[in-house]
Amino acid sequence: MRKVSIFGATGSIGQNTIDLIKRAPQEYEVVALTGASNIKQLATDAVALKAQIAVTADETLLDDLRTALQGSDVQAAAGATAIVEAAHRPVDWVMSAIVGAAGLAPGLAALAQGCTLALANKESLVCAGGLLLDTARAHGAKILPVDSEHSAVFQALVGEPMDAVERIIITASGGAFRDWPIEDLENATLAQASSHPNWDMGQRITIDSASMFNKAMEVIETREFFGVDPAQIEVLIHPQSMIHALVGFNDGALMAHVGPADMRHAIGYALHHPARRHLPVERLDLAAIGNFEFRAPDVSRWPALRIAREVMARGGLAGAVFNAAKETALDGFIAGHLKFTQMADVVSQCLEHMEAAGSHIDATMTLDNVLQTDHLARKAAQAVITGKAG
Ligand code: NAD
Ligand code: MG
Repeated sequence: MRKVSIFGATGSIGQNTIDLIKRAPQEYEVVALTGASNIKQLATDAVALKAQIAVTADETLLDDLRTALQGSDVQAAAGATAIVEAAHRPVDWVMSAIVGAAGLAPGLAALAQGCTLALANKESLVCAGGLLLDTARAHGAKILPVDSEHSAVFQALVGEPMDAVERIIITASGGAFRDWPIEDLENATLAQASSHPNWDMGQRITIDSASMFNKAMEVIETREFFGVDPAQIEVLIHPQSMIHALVGFNDGALMAHVGPADMRHAIGYALHHPARRHLPVERLDLAAIGNFEFRAPDVSRWPALRIAREVMARGGLAGAVFNAAKETALDGFIAGHLKFTQMADVVSQCLEHMEAAGSHIDATMTLDNVLQTDHLARKAAQAVITGKAG
C-alpha cells in the first residue's frame, strides 16, 4: 500500500485526485487530507478514505470539523501550522493542490520528509522555485508536475537529452475573453471571467486564465521546472486545449502531447509515474475533431505575458512579489474593487514599488524571506488598489 496525503483535497484538483484514489482504494493508505471552508466535503472524504487526519485551514471551523468527524477514527486539526504539521507525517506521495502561496510551506515540509510531491500548486514554484528544488535535492525527494502543460512537457522529454532542447511551447486556450473586442475587457464582470470555455477548474485559476496571469505563471513555472532560458519558452494560443505543450529539439522535431482537457490525466500520470496505468479519461477521436487551430498571443490583450518576462529578467524574489501582487489584485477584482484590466496595472505598479524599495527583492531565497516579501508585496499591492478606488 502506498501512503498518500492530499493538500487542498476539497478543491478541483483535490477532488479529481480523490476520484482516482477511490477507484483503487486497496492500493492506498490515506494519511492527511486538508481543506478550508468546505468542512462537509473534507469530512466525508476523510471518513470514506479512512484518513488518519483531516485539517482545515480555518481555525474557526475546528468544532464543525470535529462534529462532522464524530464516530470515526479520523483526527481533526485546524490552522496553517496544523497543515504544515500534517505535511511532516511520512508518506510516499503528496498532492500539493492548495491554491496560492499558502501551498508553499506545506510543500516544503512534504519534500523534507523525502516523498514524491505531485505539484499542482504552481504559485509555490513561481514564488520560491529555487527553494523547492533545493529542498527536494537535499532530501532525495522528487517533484512531478501536475499542471497539464508541464506534465505534457515532462512526458515529451522522457528519454530525451536536455541539451537537445531548443524550445518549449506551452499552449493556452485564451480563456473566457479570447475573442472579445479588447475595448470590452475593461467591463468584464466576475461571472464572465469565472467561466472557462474548456476546463472545469477552481474560480481563481479560471479568472487567471481569462487574464492570462495563469499562463504568465506557467511560463515562470516552465523555467523553474525545466531549467531553460526564458527566451526558449513560447506561448501559443490553441483554443481547443487538446495539445497541451510541445518540445522543439535541435533536429527540428516537435514532440507534442495531445489529450483531452481532463486534469485526471496529468494527476494520474504523476500518481503512477514512472508507470502508465489505465485512466478514466475520454479517448480523442481526431477524425471527428478535424483540425487543430493555433494563433500567436496578442500581448496588448494580455499584458500578464509581458510582465512574466520582466519578472524572469529581474530574478531574485521578483517571482514572490509577482505572485503576491497577482493574488491581491485577484482578491480586489473578486471583491469588486478593481476592474478586470486593472489587475495587470496593480501587479506592474507593485513590482515597480518593490524594486524601488530595494533590499527585499534581492534577499536570499529562504522560506522566511519569501514569506516576508510576500507580506510586503501584498501590502504594496493593496495600497495601489486603495489608491485606484479612492
Ligand atoms: P480550488 O479553489 O478548487 O481548490 C483550492 C484548495 O485549496 C481547496 O481545497 C481549498 O480548501 C484550499 N485552500 C484555499 N485557501 C487555502 C489556504 N489559505 N490554506 C490552505 N488551504 C487553502 O483550486 P484548484 O483549481 O483545485 O487549484 C489548486 C491548485 O492547482 C492551484 O495552484 C492551481 O493553480 C493549480 N491548478 C489547477 C488546475 C485545475 O484544473 N483546477 C489545473 C492546473 C493547476
Ligand atoms: Mg495549466
